[in-house]
Amino acid sequence: MQVSQKKATIDKRIIEACKRANRDENDINVIAVTKYVSNERTQEAVQAGIKHLGENRVEGLLDKQDALKEEQQLEWHFIGTLQSRKVKDVINCIDYIHSLDRISIAQEIEKRSLHPVNCFVQVNVSSEESKHGLSPNEVIPFIKKLEAFPKVRVIGLMTMAPFTEEESTLRECFKRLREIRDTIQDMGLSHAPCKELSMGMSNDFEIAIEEGATFIRIGTSLVGEEE
Ligand SMILES: *Cc1c(COP(=O)(O)O)cnc(C)c1O
Repeated sequence: MQVSQKKATIDKRIIEACKRANRDENDINVIAVTKYVSNERTQEAVQAGIKHLGENRVEGLLDKQDALKEEQQLEWHFIGTLQSRKVKDVINCIDYIHSLDRISIAQEIEKRSLHPVNCFVQVNVSSEESKHGLSPNEVIPFIKKLEAFPKVRVIGLMTMAPFTEEESTLRECFKRLREIRDTIQDMGLSHAPCKELSMGMSNDFEIAIEEGATFIRIGTSLVGEEE
């Protein structure tokens, strides 16, 4: 199926989820996660009106960026785990990083970036062993420490929900992230406005929207199943 058709379906589902939650659909930013697909398919997504692109590997991101260098006004999101030594390869090419969960990454950003970087602190809400991200009780102390790095702007929190289809578990996870976000927002830290919530993927984005997501990261159901 063409990306434009898939996008139309996603847009409709976003509008429905916003209606249920009494939210404005313009507050939802859709990141097309292109890690599974070709440069051509990514180009097709941009032609369909996608503005935000996400990749989880440095090589993948730089490759897509090179292929799309003629395109104006794209916003690039790094959504994967980043090794400290690779920060320098990508930090001046991206607009957002979604996986900040270690001070060593903040140190590298401070050293290598030419401008302040929009960062999401990644939280492992469900505290699953296999996942990256801070456990909920580590988030506030970590964000306080980030004050020492002026190039790190904590614009929000990111999570990946547990691998389950159980709606109540997913909803609980997203709700918990929102509550942590609210607590940080109330602290009024100038380096951490922390307004945004990056949560929701192909299988759970509607629940994430109902629970307050402002950035959803969609791969498979938006650009996947290339023919
Ligand atoms: C791959 C990936 C996504 C998109 O996953 P889909 O299920 O294909 O929508 C979102 N976020 C992160 C961090 C990813 O690695």
